[in-house]
Amino acid sequence: MSRFAIGVDLGGTNLRVAAINENGGLFDQVNLLTEVEKGREDVVDRLSSGILQLVERWKNVYQLAGIGVGIPGIIRMKEGVLVASPNLPGWENFNIRAQIARRLNSPFYLENDANAAALGEKWIGSGKNCDHLCFLTMGTGIGGGLILNGRIWHGVAGMAAELGHVTIYPDGRPCKCGSQGCLEAYAAASAVVIAAQEFLKAGTASPALREAAASGKPLTSALIHQLARQGDASSIAVFQQVGKALGIAIANFTNIFDIDVFVLGGGAVDAWDAFEKSMFEEVPKRSYVFRNDPRRILKSHLGNQAGIFGAAYLAFQNLAP
Ligand SMILES: [Zn+2]
Repeated sequence: MSRFAIGVDLGGTNLRVAAINENGGLFDQVNLLTEVEKGREDVVDRLSSGILQLVERWKNVYQLAGIGVGIPGIIRMKEGVLVASPNLPGWENFNIRAQIARRLNSPFYLENDANAAALGEKWIGSGKNCDHLCFLTMGTGIGGGLILNGRIWHGVAGMAAELGHVTIYPDGRPCKCGSQGCLEAYAAASAVVIAAQEFLKAGTASPALREAAASGKPLTSALIHQLARQGDASSIAVFQQVGKALGIAIANFTNIFDIDVFVLGGGAVDAWDAFEKSMFEEVPKRSYVFRNDPRRILKSHLGNQAGIFGAAYLAFQNLAP
């Protein structure tokens, strides 16, 4: 009997549960809304019933290898406590593992969503067959996942790979984490908008950007990307900042970890064409290792499904001899 695993990706908006086989074939999926406003108990109820639904549907056809759940936020792995999550307000210090366990009555793996996405990319995505992989998800914020020797690197408490909060500029923009000059403050989708606003405030914005801002349309990273593609100087400069910050970070990660492949995911990767040049210029300048032995920097292959595949793979990986 071939095996399957259940992978869960709990996001701030969407809650997805999938049944995936050992070859990385996703053959069933339940898509739900997180509806975080209904309260955390309600979300955990829905998450658990989504899992049980798929288990019931397939357990007599295939053998259940296990269940993996990816959630956003910092998790204290030993206790299964969600310490903090920007996407799940009111869930601070919530023992999510105990809550899910109570409803499932069977073992499962709990993982940070960016870590799970990193593992998904290592399994069947852009980092396939790579043992040392670094994943950056560029959305409103920047999440990170680190795979070393083929496995997720958790650090001492499970909080490792907060890669969006490494310092790029010591006296740079304030960051939501309380520090300043973080990668997130320069390369997240929100940072793109902030950089454009800085040009506008300083009175140095190019005419097309000024016009866009005056039009009343909300200034988004997608809109600024569109302006950059049309040749708008300020918008081009904004994405050069993004590429430079990413390049500095990737050089640092190369110097520390001797990483094989970097995978960039999240919505802001759509602007790849606008930031890749400055990113690829910056890395070798700052990393002797990279200069002598260039590494791959790739777009995510699995997109927003990376986390769900990685969550399922936790079960297969832990069963492997
Ligand atoms: Zn930060």
